[in-house]
Amino acid sequence: MDEGYYIDNGLEYYCSDECLHKHYTEEEYEEMYDDSNGYSYWTEWNVQIQSYRKYTR
Ligand SMILES: [Zn+2]
Repeated sequence: MDEGYYIDNGLEYYCSDECLHKHYTEEEYEEMYDDSNGYSYWTEWNVQIQSYRKYTR
C-alpha cells in the first residue's frame, strides 16, 4: 500500500475508492477535494510516508 486518500489534510486516510465510499459519497468527496483546492485528495506517499504512518491505525 503506497497510495490512498488523504481526508482533511491527513486527519483521515482511506486506501481505496471502496474504502473512501464507506465513509463519504462521491459528491461529498468532490466537495472536499474542491478541484484540488481542498484538504482532501488522492496521494502517493513517497515524501509523506511519515505522516502516513502517524495516521494509520
Ligand atoms: Zn481501507
